[in-house]
Amino acid sequence: MQIWVAISNNDLTSLDHKEVEVEGASLSDAEGKLRGASRLRFSLEKNHLQCSVAGQAPKAVAGEQIILKAQGPITIASIKRAGGNSHPSYLGEIRVANLKGKLRVSLRVSLDQYLRGVLTSEMPASYHPEALKCQALAARTYALKPRLPHDRDNANVCDSYMCCQYFAGLGQIDERIERAVVATAGQVLTYQGQPLLALFSSNAGGHTENYENCFSDPLTNEFPPAPLPYLAGRPEGKFTVAAGSEEFLRYLYKAAALKHDTKISMDSWTPKFHWRVRLPADALEAQMHHVVEKLAAAADTAPFVIPPQSGKFGHIERLEVLKRGVSGVAIAMKIVTSTGDWQIKKELVIRKAFANTEVKLARLNSARIFFSHETDDLKLLKTVNIYGLGFGHGVGLQQTGAQGFAQAGYDYKKILGHYFPGSNIEVL
Ligand SMILES: [Zn+2]
Repeated sequence: MQIWVAISNNDLTSLDHKEVEVEGASLSDAEGKLRGASRLRFSLEKNHLQCSVAGQAPKAVAGEQIILKAQGPITIASIKRAGGNSHPSYLGEIRVANLKGKLRVSLRVSLDQYLRGVLTSEMPASYHPEALKCQALAARTYALKPRLPHDRDNANVCDSYMCCQYFAGLGQIDERIERAVVATAGQVLTYQGQPLLALFSSNAGGHTENYENCFSDPLTNEFPPAPLPYLAGRPEGKFTVAAGSEEFLRYLYKAAALKHDTKISMDSWTPKFHWRVRLPADALEAQMHHVVEKLAAAADTAPFVIPPQSGKFGHIERLEVLKRGVSGVAIAMKIVTSTGDWQIKKELVIRKAFANTEVKLARLNSARIFFSHETDDLKLLKTVNIYGLGFGHGVGLQQTGAQGFAQAGYDYKKILGHYFPGSNIEVL
């Protein structure tokens, strides 16, 4: 089975490219117009796709698209991946196209080759073989049913972890990853006979979350969407405090911080399990209003930012979580300011609201958070401490939890049954 993977720009935020530079041994297209070049540069000039070979004048590309093959890997030299140091290489065919005025590049590759790349990008090869198999099934299933369809991009999936799953190219494939792909060949996760939405994240901090508490409907953007029964939050251990409350998060955080017991839950072995961010009031004051106003203006996040009647962002007095999901994830919070309360809704929007360059924070690791406030003698806010559990949205499979279960002797079928209750494994 072959799939098309849309390749993102340098920072993985968009599929649109300013220019595309393709390198490979003996590049050629199906029609034989181009033969033997090793480096081609593409751009849009006056809304038309142009190709230039080193030392020659640019030529228009007939049909506004070209599909390229090479002897061996093809490198996209106009972008970087893997920490920003290397250009990604791919095995397969590369299509460069003018898609309704946007310069796009995508890869045609077999599903299993794509999986090798996803596993390499998403999970350390040193993880337990059963955890790697969990990731292989989740990734294969996700490729068949991504959360956001990419039909209009002329592709099945994209390569960005901000949208689909991370695929940073195909370099050397570790034999442990190879074994996980081969051992699970063709296997996918299904619910009622259909491939399910195989969401996964890095660490759930002791409890996974329900789908409808973190994601909006991919087509209507409605929040909350209809629940998906196989994406229901599960505890990752036996706890003495009821899940879903701030008290539950405090209990987990304290247990992890004290390190009396490293086996709090299946996923507590990793440093991603608990974390703290200390935000001085002046850093918060300097940046939070800009970030929140930006979120309020952007089409995809605007519905989740509710300003006070004054419409103004005053001095920050306090932060408060208003509503939590089954894992304790913040679904709604308010920023109490001197000009009224700003409400922020939805897991990812809440995480983004804390972006702060002064403390080098792009977003919070997760929204499973609680706050403590420090004030000065005049009762003015001095510092906000954000205590957090987990890394990522925590819905569906969690990679570090799968590792914990695998090390405890569970096989991949049992682990996936835990993370996707009511699901089946079927062969394509
Ligand atoms: Zn995508």
